[in-house]
Amino acid sequence: MYVHYCKRCSRIHMLNGHKMYCPKCEQPLTELRIPYMEYVSMDREERELFRRDCQNETVLEQLSAHYRMYKYSKWYKKLQEANRTAQSDAVTFYIADASAPRGASTP
Ligand SMILES: [Zn+2]
Repeated sequence: MYVHYCKRCSRIHMLNGHKMYCPKCEQPLTELRIPYMEYVSMDREERELFRRDCQNETVLEQLSAHYRMYKYSKWYKKLQEANRTAQSDAVTFYIADASAPRGASTP
């Protein structure tokens, strides 16, 4: 199972395989890199927060599967904390920070 987000329906879809299009509205889906097991272990409030994050284009980019991030859960927890306490630019900063170091040709 893979977790996808449909902007059109603004909801999370858990689908069997890497799907490109929403089964409901047939618009392009964004596949999220959060593991299925991790998503299902979230409680209702966390899921709602997660879904709301997906509605933000910038955050959605960062949550989508083409960014490979192995310490996902750790930074996402931080992201959520930041989300609860700070303004949205603080969140953006967090994300930019988290995606920076890996794979770059820096020494
Ligand atoms: Zn849809």
